[in-house]
Amino acid sequence: MSQRFDLSRLTHDELDRGLAQRVAQDRVATAELIAYLGEVGARGRHLTFGYRSLYDYCTQHFGMSEDVAKKRIRVARLARRHPVILERLADGRITLTALLMMSRELFRASAPEQAIALLDATRGKTNEQVALLLAGRSPKPDTPTRVRPLSAPVVARAVSDQGAARPPVPSVPPDPTEQQVPLFVEQDPVPSASPPSSARFEFRTTLDEQTLAELQEAAELLSHVIPNGDLGLVLARLVRMGLEQARKQRQAATKQPRAPRAPRPDQATDNIPEHIVRAVYARDEGRCTYRGDDGHVCASRWQVEFDHVVPRSKGGESSLENLRLLCRAHNQHEAERVLGAAFMRGKRAWAAKRRRVATPRAGRKAPAPVAQATPTSASPRP
Ligand SMILES: [Zn+2]
Repeated sequence: MSQRFDLSRLTHDELDRGLAQRVAQDRVATAELIAYLGEVGARGRHLTFGYRSLYDYCTQHFGMSEDVAKKRIRVARLARRHPVILERLADGRITLTALLMMSRELFRASAPEQAIALLDATRGKTNEQVALLLAGRSPKPDTPTRVRPLSAPVVARAVSDQGAARPPVPSVPPDPTEQQVPLFVEQDPVPSASPPSSARFEFRTTLDEQTLAELQEAAELLSHVIPNGDLGLVLARLVRMGLEQARKQRQAATKQPRAPRAPRPDQATDNIPEHIVRAVYARDEGRCTYRGDDGHVCASRWQVEFDHVVPRSKGGESSLENLRLLCRAHNQHEAERVLGAAFMRGKRAWAAKRRRVATPRAGRKAPAPVAQATPTSASPRP
């Protein structure tokens, strides 16, 4: 062991003081790290370095563990809303775990006094006591959408066969401000007896009434091809149909591509010729091509959009050479860099206003009971 970490020669007194000192330093360092994350996120520095999210920046660039990154970023967002959190974290009045448990409530708190009252109420309490206190204050959150691999092939259940049992509520509620992240599901790393083609995944989510009714209607319409009405099979078929549609829309994918047409000089962005759309998609492999200051390429396939390298407003054409794919985060980042943040803020506000006028919000119904829509674990549920 290196000298630095060999503490065997310290006196008891030195050891006690040393530990106390480091516990205090650790709290301060955590609070400072969280403050830095909040500021980096607010300035979009991760975008500059070629990462579409702060989470990717922390895990891929700094090698933080996924869990550590996720928790610190969530608290960083909370602290941007209620800066008082950082002081309390630094002096040990609140723990990271308690903050994560309270995050939903703290995000809801609009006034600083509300946040302070909540922090005071949970001071010195164990995690279990905090959970009890919170349970009395807010309704059960929706079951977050989750996908997990199952080790063995399983038997499907239809919606009428739903169990009454709800999955346990996670102690850390989902972060409402968190960016949507694609659900990538890794195969079970443990070698399984079943061949890869028979791999099964459990997929849980919370649906609203309308979606559930639509799913049931789809099951009825597809009942001639899926006579047992298995919602897992219905979902699989709907996904394939939807995917085909989405590919057509986003990538102009088609089995019989039309002959290229010369673009008109007034070609709008949303009117990029189909053969150009396909060529750009193929060349960029459907990924964000943004290259960060230190050479990192984003390569995200999430919310990928077409970007004119020379903006249309400056005479840029919708040509293969002048088009590239960027994820939405980097497209926005680039637009702000080229056109200015104030201009883009105004443009977004205008677009949002136009959307509100065009599509008046339908009355949102309360979430329906959790639908166990896919095959469930072979082991019996309570
Ligand atoms: Zn990107």
